[in-house]
Amino acid sequence: MGRPATFVRLAGCNLRCEGCDTPIDRWEEMQSEAVLKEIVGDRVVITGGEPTLQMDELLGLISLLHEAEKEIHIETNGLQPIPEGILKMIDCIVVSPKQGSDIDLDYWSAHKNVHLKFVIGPAPWCWPPGILREIVPSLPRERVWIMAFGVGPELKGSRGAWDLAMRLGCNYSDRLHIRVGGR
Ligand code: SF4
Repeated sequence: MGRPATFVRLAGCNLRCEGCDTPIDRWEEMQSEAVLKEIVGDRVVITGGEPTLQMDELLGLISLLHEAEKEIHIETNGLQPIPEGILKMIDCIVVSPKQGSDIDLDYWSAHKNVHLKFVIGPAPWCWPPGILREIVPSLPRERVWIMAFGVGPELKGSRGAWDLAMRLGCNYSDRLHIRVGGR
């Protein structure tokens, strides 16, 4: 967070989370080679929507970025696995599980380049602190992050997220794009 990166945002999502801060239904068709030409700098964050919905194109893009020696990050809701050979090319995978979705936390947490980000707050897909108190101790806490739900720059839940992260012995994540950009 806070480091310059080119964001590649893939359209569409297999979830419809209340308060989603991304316009997931607007897109422009582009080939992977054309995307590569638009990359500025050495760091790329592939996000969505849900990037794994376009798995073939995603795999092609990651291979191109890897060949170009880019630092590759990806954000996913974790519902679809990514092939092992491709996972190895990615520097940092941020999995943001949604409560109630069918996610395999053991699969993701077994990969050392995976960070798990749990959002707490009032939306139905957010994680109740009581459930996190049960599951976080069995996860690699140095790679677990707690973040507050929020679509306004005041982020009222951030203090609660910080306190919970400290109690669970894991990390706190802010929402810099919301604080700076408003949405
Ligand atoms: S998984 Fe992410 S991108 Fe998809 S609807 Fe939920 S918040 Fe939005």
